[in-house]
Amino acid sequence: MFKGYEIVLPAMKTLSCRDAGCDCDYIAKGETGEDVMKDAAQHGMKEHGKTEQDMNQMKDNLIGAIHTS
Ligand SMILES: [Zn+2]
Repeated sequence: MFKGYEIVLPAMKTLSCRDAGCDCDYIAKGETGEDVMKDAAQHGMKEHGKTEQDMNQMKDNLIGAIHTS
């Protein structure tokens, strides 16, 4: 419920493709780590020719590179 004085912004998590080791300016975003990972995986597969298996192998590195703002 909106209370008038309270502005609630969900913490946004981001994962920069560059932090994941790519020379690329894409930044995956989401409200949860899971959302960010989904975004990053889609991007990685579409733009960098990664497979789902590749993404699973990179998962730990990617999770470590997630920033919360
Ligand atoms: Zn990228």
